[in-house]
Amino acid sequence: TRIVTSKKTELDIEKDKSLRPSTLGEYIGQETVKERMRVFISAAKQRGEALDHVLLYGPPGLGKTTLSNIIANELGVSIKVTSGPAIEKPGDLAAILSGLKKNDVLFIDEIHRLNRTIEEVLYPAMEDYAFDIVMGKGPNAKSVRIPIAPFTLIGATTRTGLLSSPLRDRFGVLNKLEMYKIEELMEIIKRSSGILDIDIDDEGAKEIAIRSRQTPRIANRFLKRVRDYAQVKNSDMINGKIAVEALKLLDVDENGLDSSDIGILDAIINKFDGGPVGLNTLSAIIGEEEDTILDVYEPYLLQLGFINRTPRGRVATKLAYDYLGVPFTNEEML
Ligand code: ADP
Repeated sequence: TRIVTSKKTELDIEKDKSLRPSTLGEYIGQETVKERMRVFISAAKQRGEALDHVLLYGPPGLGKTTLSNIIANELGVSIKVTSGPAIEKPGDLAAILSGLKKNDVLFIDEIHRLNRTIEEVLYPAMEDYAFDIVMGKGPNAKSVRIPIAPFTLIGATTRTGLLSSPLRDRFGVLNKLEMYKIEELMEIIKRSSGILDIDIDDEGAKEIAIRSRQTPRIANRFLKRVRDYAQVKNSDMINGKIAVEALKLLDVDENGLDSSDIGILDAIINKFDGGPVGLNTLSAIIGEEEDTILDVYEPYLLQLGFINRTPRGRVATKLAYDYLGVPFTNEEML
């Protein structure tokens, strides 16, 4: 598994829990989203009603699951966590819905991966707090509506465009999570160091932050590896030097790129003369699914300004040429 992937890995899951903030106050960055949610949460609490359904979208590792848990915590209700691919039959969803208590939160990660028949169970649940089941067979079959407790659905997805419009339209609150600034990542790294019980100075936190691809999950993962390195080197504090040495060992460069990212840039520049290259071609070259390229590789390469998206495919920018040390000759692309 790539160390710089923003996707959840087995290793993250257990350890993530202890590093997860549990209140909006501890949740770093995402100021607009936090401010908005504070208002909606207190209004719902004052009325004693369920919070409106919330859609969270943005690349993996930016804190969608964490924020959902925080929302439930701030509302003072329980949260039931599931994911699109985990719900296989309409009955699975019906069982989850009937188990919810008044104003609880149901979190569905990767909600874009729900299949259509299950999505249809969700519509009346979201709108009328009910679901329909068909009793009997053939001409005697009839649909019976089963009421459920009012609840809040929080859906997480990487891109809103992946959602069908009837589903998207049923969310009252749409929140886009932003990539994190260096200072915010430094704050997250320092907070996590406190929990992991290792000292870190500003330089150490900064060296980790600048390589973390603007993603808290990667920042926390790096921190753990750097901590291992510090321990082996008998250092009781992570400083800039320790952080740089440790991250070099992990094959992560000073922009947070690894060999797979460089493989993409190298292919566009050296095999396709700067592009444009179609998504399916890139996917074949590096052996990753198109969705992974769109969600994991591309947002960061775009953010760095190394590639541009055109209707005919991805093109490498002059910055990417400079980065690989290849002379940039295509003047019309400047
Ligand atoms: P997502 O659901 O978007 O993939 P997660 O909520 O699982 O991301 O976040 C990944 C990890 O990053 C969490 O374990 C959490 O510790 C950390 N994290 C994410 N966002 C924040 C934040 N705003 N402040 C502090 N830590 C965060």
